[in-house]
Amino acid sequence: MFPNKYFEPDEKGYYGKFGGAYIPEMLYKNVEELRVEYLKIIENVAFQNEYQNLLKDYAGRATPLFFAKRLSQKYSVNIYLKREDLCHTGAHKINNTIGQILLAIKLGKKRIIAETGAGQHGVATATVCALKGLDCIVFMGEKDIKRQAPNVARMRMLGAKVIPASSGSKTLKDATNEAIRYWINNSVDTHYIIGSVVGPHPYPDIVTRFQSVISLEIKWQLKEKIKTELPDYVIACVGGGSNAAGAFYHFLDVNSVQLIAVEAAGLGVDTDFSAATTQLGTIGILHGSKSLLMQTKDGQVIEPHSISAGLDYPGIGPLHAHLFETGRAKYLSATDDEAIAAAFELAKLEGIIPALESAHALHALKLLKFKPSDNVIICLSGRGDKDLSTYMKKMEE
Ligand SMILES: *Cc1c(COP(=O)(O)O)cnc(C)c1O
Repeated sequence: MFPNKYFEPDEKGYYGKFGGAYIPEMLYKNVEELRVEYLKIIENVAFQNEYQNLLKDYAGRATPLFFAKRLSQKYSVNIYLKREDLCHTGAHKINNTIGQILLAIKLGKKRIIAETGAGQHGVATATVCALKGLDCIVFMGEKDIKRQAPNVARMRMLGAKVIPASSGSKTLKDATNEAIRYWINNSVDTHYIIGSVVGPHPYPDIVTRFQSVISLEIKWQLKEKIKTELPDYVIACVGGGSNAAGAFYHFLDVNSVQLIAVEAAGLGVDTDFSAATTQLGTIGILHGSKSLLMQTKDGQVIEPHSISAGLDYPGIGPLHAHLFETGRAKYLSATDDEAIAAAFELAKLEGIIPALESAHALHALKLLKFKPSDNVIICLSGRGDKDLSTYMKKMEE
């Protein structure tokens, strides 16, 4: 199931020098329970059967691997799109929330909490909580609640309680603080679902394993189509890095497969409005793990900027920091405008409107030099319905 050795974290959750669990004393009990139990639970055959069944019948997996003919002609290379946009709730996030809910149930938890920025992770969490009949509380910045009204409505319709975080900048990091505070006070019956490959060990490894289904499917789907399991390139966007980690996972130890991650450059890496962590970040501790993050000289986190809410994060998961540092994966970036252009191009050439996040990955086609025989996989992490108002503004310009 999980054959990869070289890029697995060690006992303490380190990928090279990144990772670990830097948490306050008060959280130790919660995180330690997870650390001791998670592998036993998720490698159990009955657990895997239930997980796989839900991925199939509920989330709609396997998602198609689509040969994008007109896009391929334009870039003179063979391009396959991994259609995570066709997952239930519109993105890859549900692969992880289904897994973590089943894990929480096995741990005897009755309630799920999550934090959310744009609301995508909150919606995926509220969805599976409804499915499994668990209480769901989603913490969300007051400002984000106003900006993301449709997702707030979805969460409420699904039965979740959305609690506004009204401290600080009233956005994602404040929601995270509220969620952690709640968890400290309710450790016995509550599981905290983190939505990307970030946070203290074992979260990055848990989320990576649940998202690794993406590359597992790519291998057999490519074999079915072109008789080889191994593409030449795998390209994915990186916010915290979960869809990329999942798309890379089963190729990490195969050096012939080039792994390309695309970060959000925002208005440009030479401006104060960017989210390209590998270019602008330095080593530090964010949300419980040691990784690369955008910070001032005194260690204050710099507010990131990206047109896509899912990439608007000042750090990256520790696995990515390690892949970057060792050179195993290459990190590129796309600006807001470049992502928008890539989204319009895909819509016109293939009839697929991508999420703004995924559009960043598409921009890599302009940055790489391919051989015509190369087989390129692009992880289309989500669909663009949620970004329609942004696309509409661009069409009016
Ligand atoms: C949340 C999100 C992302 C970014 O998260 P990762 O953990 O980096 O994958 C990318 N694409 C979509 C569609 C998202 O919803």
